[in-house]
Amino acid sequence: MLIAANWKMNLNKNEIKLFSKFLKKNNFSNHVKTCIFPQSIYIDLLAKLLNNTPVYVGGQNCHHDISGPFTGEISAFSLKEMGCEYVILGHSERRQLFNESNSYIKKCSESAINNSIIPIICVGESYDDRKNKNALNFVKEQILNSIPSTEKNLCIAYEPIWSIGTGEIPDKDEIFEMHEHIKEVAYSFLKRNIKVLYGGSVNIHNIKEVLSVGNVDGVLVGGASLKVKDFLAIYEAVVKHINS
Ligand code: PEP
Repeated sequence: MLIAANWKMNLNKNEIKLFSKFLKKNNFSNHVKTCIFPQSIYIDLLAKLLNNTPVYVGGQNCHHDISGPFTGEISAFSLKEMGCEYVILGHSERRQLFNESNSYIKKCSESAINNSIIPIICVGESYDDRKNKNALNFVKEQILNSIPSTEKNLCIAYEPIWSIGTGEIPDKDEIFEMHEHIKEVAYSFLKRNIKVLYGGSVNIHNIKEVLSVGNVDGVLVGGASLKVKDFLAIYEAVVKHINS
């Protein structure tokens, strides 16, 4: 199980220090992997603060080239150098607000893999696609065009756009159906089983329900990961689920 905490453009230096101080008091399980994705400027700080813990740090995005004239961008090589284990790619906010295409995301994922970083590639349908019963097709297209064909480790996060930050989540059958579909589509060209995380309004109230879906391999948490108490409550729920 992996818990990925996407902080997006939130938490400043002092807040990160306080979060880490509290987090370090936690008893961590060997069976749960945790990775926090702060704003890139704080990756180094967070990595140092969490140095003696099993919590990984990750990047919220990376460019597909290693260096060059790409003002404002960050390379996978630099993320690795700063201690990142994972990078989130193709988040719907980046697809929508920064026009990232499937082929662009694929190139960035390849660069992450080439630099020994595990990409967490996000896919997920809009509300209209869900309503028009086009969700499975839409996500299939995203997978076929944004996931690189590789033997190296990668994860997919299923994040329905209509669920992100809204408090609404798909029902258990919908999550199960989509996760099964994602695994099948990925298997068709990767020829192995991959881990699929669920993301979208995961919180302390619905985490048990999300985990009870048999094929959820972890969660990608946005808003609820910003408060350390909520984040640790989610962590505890995952540990309990594994031990049950
Ligand atoms: C996200 O944006 O990756 C996310 C899961 O956000 P939230 O949990 O706030 O819906």
